Amino acid sequence: MDFTLSEEHEMLRQAVREFTDGAVRPLADQIDAQHAVPRELVDQISELGLMGVAIPEAYGGAGMGETGLCIAMEEITRGDFSVAVTYGAHASIGAMSVLVGGTEEQKQRFLPDFASGAKLACFGLTEAEAGSDAGAMKTTAVRDGDGWVLNGEKVWITGGDIADFAVIYAVTDRAKGAHGGVTAFLVPRDARGYTIGKAEEKMGQRGSSTVTLAFEDVRLGDELRLGEVGQGFRVAMATLDRGRLALGANCLGCAREAQALSVDYANQRQSFGRPIASFQAIQWMLADSAVDLYAMESLVYRTAWLCDAHQPFSRESAMTKLFCSEALDRVVDRAVQIHGGMGYSAEYKIERMYRDARVTRIYEGTNEIQRLVIARDVLKSGA
Ligand SMILES: Cc1cc2nc3c(=O)[nH]c(=O)nc-3n(C[C@H](O)[C@H](O)[C@H](O)COP(=O)(O)OP(=O)(O)OC[C@H]3O[C@@H](n4cnc5c(N)ncnc54)[C@H](O)[C@@H]3O)c2cc1C
Repeated sequence: MDFTLSEEHEMLRQAVREFTDGAVRPLADQIDAQHAVPRELVDQISELGLMGVAIPEAYGGAGMGETGLCIAMEEITRGDFSVAVTYGAHASIGAMSVLVGGTEEQKQRFLPDFASGAKLACFGLTEAEAGSDAGAMKTTAVRDGDGWVLNGEKVWITGGDIADFAVIYAVTDRAKGAHGGVTAFLVPRDARGYTIGKAEEKMGQRGSSTVTLAFEDVRLGDELRLGEVGQGFRVAMATLDRGRLALGANCLGCAREAQALSVDYANQRQSFGRPIASFQAIQWMLADSAVDLYAMESLVYRTAWLCDAHQPFSRESAMTKLFCSEALDRVVDRAVQIHGGMGYSAEYKIERMYRDARVTRIYEGTNEIQRLVIARDVLKSGA
């Protein structure tokens, strides 16, 4: 059994760490205050080749698999969660929808631009009345000659304002329900009838844009259909398997940073004439967070290995998302406690990280839904 990362993956980690230290972390407060990730930062991520880190070399990517994507996500999140989420909306769920659902022709046509960052994609499944129950979506795509006419509205779409293409899931046969009646489409932003709507004001991850996308009689050629008619739900779930895993890596990166800040603070903050790190109460919090970090890292990279080895990993990815988001909550909560009053001050990074962390239990499928997915599999397999 060999748990070491390849030399190539280690070099990737080093490169992304240097980028994060130099370009991302110094901007984190500004990004939170201005509710925007500077476009130049997104362009720098493209120039580094990270947009296509998990895209196979045959389609212009770096071919470093889901392991590579998790490394990039972990390291960028150490610097700022909003930047990582903006990156992930494209690299993890937008572009990956084409990789898991597209035809060979579509992969050759779209993935090279997605890999270089020349074009960006986002992922549009959620609607105002269809979140956890995605099958209740109202967006429709109706056959019209050789193509389709799309109508509806998607909400909470991360990176929807900067994406050149949106992967949109629409009902094509209501009688067949979610499994069989939903189809995925790759919708170009310049299509007539495509509107980018309001941005959400959020508790955390304020720099990442989250917008509404509306479609009114948008005409699409059949070559923009992703996967078979009626197989959209399969594409969405296969994409989310990867997205949930990468989200685990986000949680790991944020938790690592929170722990590092806590160790520094515990060593320098004095109370009763001693550094607070000398108190057992503080040491126990640091120890519990270290255990959480080790478990998160183990889940993320073991599951990434399963994915890259083309083994089933749906259940493991749901477990990774569930555990890592809840572990992150525990780690940032302890970090605030270790910082005392300063943990509650907007002057300290930990206050932002506490806000940034909360949504990880909600998006990419709430943790209640992850438990449902895991329980179904446990009952089916008997273990
Ligand atoms: C910052 C942010 C970014 C997002 N980005 C994207 C994106 O890029 N693309 C996209 O498509 N979506 C995105 N989403 C949407 C996100 O995936 C949904 O918010 C999430 O799936 C939950 O749906 P909902 O908000 O409608 O909650 P609801 O489904 O209304 O759930 C409300 C509560 O009921 C619980 N619940 C519902 N059904 C069940 C059940 N069967 N059993 C037990 N409990 C249940 C939920 O767990 C939750 O606690 C984003 C959301 C946020 C907040």
